Amino acid sequence: MAEAAAAAPEIRPLVPYLTLGETREQDYLNGSKCGNCGTMYVGPRLFCPKCSSDGPFESVRLSDHGEVYVYSVIHQATPYVKAPYIAAIVDLPEGVAVNTNIEGVEPDPKNIPFGMKVKMFTEKVSEDREGNSYIAYKFKPA
Ligand SMILES: [Zn+2]
Repeated sequence: MAEAAAAAPEIRPLVPYLTLGETREQDYLNGSKCGNCGTMYVGPRLFCPKCSSDGPFESVRLSDHGEVYVYSVIHQATPYVKAPYIAAIVDLPEGVAVNTNIEGVEPDPKNIPFGMKVKMFTEKVSEDREGNSYIAYKFKPA
């Protein structure tokens, strides 16, 4: 019996709420808007805890820019992660917040004011044994 041809490596999002475009500049985050009360969420939803509705939910393309709500400079990480780095929560104009890393600035509190304007970008962060690439979103100073 002939062996099945190996599938061509794919480019995959690291999280399900990141949609990949033809180029990394076209990537964007997805949100959901409750059709009953209008509450926004990051990623897909099946239930709205605010109004106890099961939808329908409207898919919304989230903005690629926001403001740093809070952050922490992480000095100790797992062996394959370079430290120090900035772990942050970024508020988006749609009224949702995303967990992310901030890059493009030295991880020192004097460089990172709360409310700092940031812009999203995406890049390859990992590859599996089959050669599939994984794309993550991050933010950098706008
Ligand atoms: Zn709702």
